[in-house]
Formats: sequence, C-alpha cells, structure tokens
Amino acid sequence: MADVIKLMSDALANQIAAGEVIQRPASVIKELVENSVDAGATEITINVKDAGRTLIQVIDNGCGMSVTDAKMCFERHATSKIYKSDDLFCIYTKGFRGEALPSIAAVAEVELKTRREDDNIGTQVIINGSQFISQNPINTPVGTNFAIKSLFFNVPARRKFLKSNSTELQHIVNEFQRIVLTHPNIEFTLYHNDNLIYNLRASNLKQRIVNVFGKSINQELIPVEIDTSIVKITGFTGKPSATKRRSDKQFFFVNNRYMKSQYFHKAITLAYENIVRPDCIPPYFLYFDIDPHTIDVNVHPTKTEINFENTSDIFRLLQAGIRETLSKCDIAPAIDFEGEPDAEIPHFSKNDPIPPMPKVSYNPYYNPFDNDSEKNNNSSYHSNYNETSQHNLNNWQNLYSNFDNDSDIIMSSRFNSEQQSELTKNDSKPLFSESVENRLIQIKNKYIVSPSKSGLMIIDQHRAHKRILYEKYLDQINANVDAVQTLLYPIELPLDVQNFAMAYDIRDEFQVVGFDIEFNENNSLTINGIPSFLNQNNAIDIINDIIESYKEGHGNVSSSIKDILAIAAANREVISYGQTLLPEEMRNLIDSLFSTSAPNYSPEGNPTIIIIGLDELEKKFS
Ligand code: ADP
Ligand code: MG
Repeated sequence: MADVIKLMSDALANQIAAGEVIQRPASVIKELVENSVDAGATEITINVKDAGRTLIQVIDNGCGMSVTDAKMCFERHATSKIYKSDDLFCIYTKGFRGEALPSIAAVAEVELKTRREDDNIGTQVIINGSQFISQNPINTPVGTNFAIKSLFFNVPARRKFLKSNSTELQHIVNEFQRIVLTHPNIEFTLYHNDNLIYNLRASNLKQRIVNVFGKSINQELIPVEIDTSIVKITGFTGKPSATKRRSDKQFFFVNNRYMKSQYFHKAITLAYENIVRPDCIPPYFLYFDIDPHTIDVNVHPTKTEINFENTSDIFRLLQAGIRETLSKCDIAPAIDFEGEPDAEIPHFSKNDPIPPMPKVSYNPYYNPFDNDSEKNNNSSYHSNYNETSQHNLNNWQNLYSNFDNDSDIIMSSRFNSEQQSELTKNDSKPLFSESVENRLIQIKNKYIVSPSKSGLMIIDQHRAHKRILYEKYLDQINANVDAVQTLLYPIELPLDVQNFAMAYDIRDEFQVVGFDIEFNENNSLTINGIPSFLNQNNAIDIINDIIESYKEGHGNVSSSIKDILAIAAANREVISYGQTLLPEEMRNLIDSLFSTSAPNYSPEGNPTIIIIGLDELEKKFS
C-alpha cells in the first residue's frame, strides 16, 4: 500500500495556526501592536473600520525592517526575538513565536510599508491569503505601517463566526486597554471609522489609568506596594467605596504582560471580604514583577494564561498585602507613621512559612450604648485583641495623643498639657478614652467631629454603628452558638410567587445560618425556628431582606448568606441619623469602631470616617 503521510502546505499550516492565534479582529490588533512595542515605538496609531472587518491598520515609529526582513517576517517561525530554547523561559519581549504575521497573512489581505532610519527609501510588501503578490520600494516614514484588509475573506466559517460590530469593537477596546496599561510611556491613538476613540499621551501609570477610564477613577485608587522575595506587586487597587457590581477594570500583569487569573482574582475578593458587599468587585491594576524562571508563559497560544511555580504563596501574599493596604488607607494620611514599624509584609525566602491572614477579633458583647462597663470591658475581649485591631487602635490613639496642643480649634478639655503628655505616654484605655470623650462634638445628630493630629476627623454615626453591629452579628453567626431558636408559635409568612421561588432556591443557605423554614404549597413559609441571636420581632423583616438581597444580586447564591444576614440584622438595630448621643456613647461608638476589622467602611463599603487635613483647612481660609 502506498505511503499516506504528506507534509501540509505552508499556507494550510498557517491557516490552521491562524485559527489559534487570530480569533477575531482584536487578536490582530494585539499582535500588531505588540510587535510595534517590541520594535521600540514611542507612538502607535490604530485605525479600525467596521470593527476590524474592513480594515485594521497599525502605524508605528519603531525601528522598521530591512527589505529582506519585510518579506521574511511573513515566514512561519520567523522571529528576531528568540534564538535558543532557553530564551523561551526568560521572555521580556512580547512576541517570540514568529507566528503572528504568517497567521494574519494567511487569513487576510496584508499591506506592509516599512523603513529603517538609515534607509533612504522604504519597502512595500503585499500578501493576500498567504500568496505573495508584490514587493516594491516606496516612500514611507521611519517605522512600520501594517494594513490588514478583509479579515477572514478566505475562511467564510470564521467570518460568519464574528459577532456584531459592537461586540467586536468591545473586544478591540479591551485588548487596547490591556496594552496601553502596560506601556504608559508610549503614546497611543485609536480611531474607529475615522472617529477618535482614545488619544493617550505618554505619562505615568496613574495618569494613564485616569486617561483611559476617566477622571473620576483618580479619587478611587489606593497605591499598592507588596515587596517580597518571591514577587513584587505594585499598582493600584480600588477603595472599597469604588467597588461596583459590574466586573470591569480588573487587570493583572506579569512582567508587563496581561494575565487572566480567576485564581488571583479570588485572592483579591477575599481581601475585600466584609469590607464591601459580597457581590461587589473592586477595580484593580496590579503588576507582578517576578523572576521569569519561576513562570511559564508558554501554555497558551494567546499567552494570557501563565503558570507560576509559587502559586499558592503568591495567592496568600496578594491577599494579605491587599488587606493590609486597605486597612491603612484613609486613616494613613491623618497619622504620623514615623517611628512605627512598616506594615508587616516581610521579605520571604522560599522556605519561610507564609504568615496567616491577620485575623480580627473584637468583643461580640460590646454594645456602645450599654454603660455596663464590666461587661464591655470583659477581659477576654482585651486578651483577644489581635494585631489588626490593635493596629487600628494604635492608629486611633495616635490620632488623638499626637494632637497639636496649640491647635486653633478650641475644645473644652479638663486636661492641661502636662496631663495631656502623660496621656500620650499612657496607653491605658480609660485615660485615653476620657481625653477623647472631651474632644467629641456631635453635629446635626449625624456626625461626630473631633480634632486629629493632621486636621479634623468626622465620623458618620449611622454607618459606624452599622459596621460595629455587622461584625458583631457575623461573629455570632460564625460562632454558631446553639444555632436555632425554636419558636413556640411558628410564624406564617405569605410570599408572592417570585419571592417564594427565590426563598426556595436558597433554602439551604437559610438553614446554614439557623432558620428552620417549611415551604408550603400556597407560596407561604412557616417559620419554625430562627437564628438564636435574632429578635423574633425582626425575623420576618430579616427574611424579607435576605430574599430581596438575593434578588438584587440576580440570584447570585455565592454571595455569602452570612454577610447578608449580618447586614440585615445590623440594619434592624442601627442608630439612625437624628439620634442625640451622650459623650460617653460617642466614645464607646468610636472605641468599638476602631476595634473592628475595617473601621473605615460600612459593611456596604461606604466611608465611615472622613479626615479633613490641615492643608485643606488652610486652603479654605486663604
Ligand atoms: P514574533 O513577534 O513572535 O517575533 P511576528 O510574526 O509577530 O513574530 O513577527 C515576526 C518578526 O517581524 C518580528 O520578530 C520582527 O523582527 C518583525 N516585525 C514585526 N512587526 C514589526 C514592527 N512593527 N516593526 C519592526 N519589526 C517588526
Ligand atoms: Mg509578534
């Protein structure tokens, strides 16, 4: 029998490769722009027509190509960027497979114009569907100009597979954003159907983010700096108040290459747990700087997935580092950190054990409006103080104890400055508290105001109290002490069809936290038992709240029932605006707030504390 194996033609091989590398117009833009970046361009302009179906043009002012290279670059595995297999593991350039241009040329009509600085005349190459058409000298500026026309003209199945123009354009914009966020020092311009979409001047990273996403994001970002021997992570993460239900503006980059990672995304969401609503996602722009020998970028042809040697270590460093960043934000500018040790993100060597996440405990029995100090000062509460709450409390004490005695803000204080300096030395709570109490003012029965070292601190009483109650309930739910409180008289709760269906969907969640509920055929619930800490009078409202929360989250059962229940229970009890507070109550409220895991934010992620700096005050008076 005759031999059956034959070598494929290059054209066919390229078309098959194109299937992997070039999935849609956005992939063409990615490949061409990455080549421009590798070519050292400082300005890159992209013209797109009909979401890339008709034309994708990328013009750069990079190094350009010689006459020979301009033809060679369309050959399979032709690359100027990798010479030996070792290089595969130490990649700093974007390309390295020499696959992109032959793949693009296999499925489109391509015109290349290019010139190097030292050449007087440039060269033009035309290739259609892998077919070489012509090469001619041409006048063209230094750099490279690729025009890709009629993408997939010879692969009807692919062309049909393209989505609507608006979807394809969205893919293009996503790809564009990933590239521009890794190269803020390059100027990028994007046109669609001759309309200018972006013109991004060279700038620093923060400015680039603002230029891409709009001015409002400027206020929403906190700088991140996590420096360990395994990985260095820098960039920005969103303030809890900036979290949105929509998931966009989440970016990881590894050695300046965009990376998709559900796994590391999870580390971030864990860092924000209990600080923002469970269904909200913060924006983040995080750049990993890592020894290229410890990663493998070569696992996927489009190179957005990356394997790490130390995945789980990095996960924990990321989670702890972001959590630490959040715990410092907002308070940080008000406090003089001088003399305080830096945030505890130590330098690791590979063999060091990774420290556990800072765990937060506080006194679950603490009621700021209960003057029974025996109970509130319960000694196990103090001995249970762990690092984070102690850290918060230290911040808080600094805020007060370092205050400027010559402050122009006149407050009635029983303490003279000698006693005050005594106080500064003395960390004991009662003394400290007394000094605080005498510096608290309630405004409009809504805000608590107090001087601080660097200006003025304003606390929202309602949100602060909600944070305290939320953590108290969350703790009780987690402790799960005799979970169910069986009701003597079961309560009947009629629901509409939709709410009944939703309640039924989450029946397991209800049970987990201590509800004993029967589902009746007439769309009503019979409530036989409720979590032990709940007041029976609130039970119906809270069940309704939980159902509504799940409905709002579009049935997203992954939102933790515990969070929702804790927020719902807190909402039933939280002090409202308009409630007058005694000095002692204000003090208790603030003490408790600073013992929580995230004093700066309500459980919904709204700010509880605002600091107005002296600078700002001075500006107002100028
Ligand atoms: P890779 O980027 O993996 O090397 P490509 O097929 O994308 O493979 O490109 C092949 C080669 O063509 C590159 O290695 C480079 O030498 C050259 N090249 C491509 N685009 C440009 C450009 N815009 N400017 C200069 N040279 C380029
Ligand atoms: Mg390339």
